[in-house]
Amino acid sequence: MTATPTTRPYVGRFAPSPTGLLHRGSLVAALASFLDARAHGGRWLVRIEDVDGPRCVPGASEQILAQLRTLGLHPDGEVMVQSQRGPVYEAALQSLIARSWAYPCACTRSDIERALRSAGTPTPRHASAVYPGTCRLGTQGKTGRSWRLDVARVLRDLGLPPVLHWHDRHLGEQTQEVAAEVGDFVLRRTDGLWAYQLAVVVDDAAQGVTDVVRGMDLLDNTARQIVLQKALGCPTPRYLHVPVVLGQNGEKLSKQNGAQPLNLAEPTQCLQEARAFLTRSGWPFDR
Ligand SMILES: [Zn+2]
Repeated sequence: MTATPTTRPYVGRFAPSPTGLLHRGSLVAALASFLDARAHGGRWLVRIEDVDGPRCVPGASEQILAQLRTLGLHPDGEVMVQSQRGPVYEAALQSLIARSWAYPCACTRSDIERALRSAGTPTPRHASAVYPGTCRLGTQGKTGRSWRLDVARVLRDLGLPPVLHWHDRHLGEQTQEVAAEVGDFVLRRTDGLWAYQLAVVVDDAAQGVTDVVRGMDLLDNTARQIVLQKALGCPTPRYLHVPVVLGQNGEKLSKQNGAQPLNLAEPTQCLQEARAFLTRSGWPFDR
């Protein structure tokens, strides 16, 4: 797994979470990844991201796949389903534990908030807490509830700088100091479910994905995913984050802020609208 993206044939993917049906916003992400794959003569794959079982709606996976078929967006290969891949994620976690790059964490949310307050760094409203590293050197007899990645140690052991630089095909150069800005993030949650970051990285590698084209709302995950790719010895894909369709409240369009399922009596019109949104946003984005 040492090939660089430029030497691997283009593979793109669309990875919906079955928390509801596709709507205008999710179709933009699907179409962007599809068009980019086609423009590069590449393959386009679909992956159902249902690791967060409690948030998934029964039957939504099948309905999303049916919606894609109606739209003529046919995947060039078998659909991958994350809820079937527990043993693969477990193996990835074990490989990180074996290198002392993952550790158990016994903290509850209020433990974390208390530790941040006593360190004088309370979490600002609407921001997620930077884990203060309480359990990095052990859980002091408490039972581990989740597993976290020791970000600084991974980067140090691999001889990488603390500040990660990466290029986005639309947004240009990006930087993030993951250890300071995000902290040691979760790999397996306290409820036993696999964390999104681990599943995405393992699956992108398994599917041979060279190009991630997805909504800008996921931009902030990228640096964490690159750290995990390095830790697991997986190649880093190219990234292209596309603008997201906004709901009436100015936030990303979602079921919660009024997104209606696509009207698939008119599939061509749905595609034209998604295409028009991309064109208005400046598609194609490569500079
Ligand atoms: Zn902890």
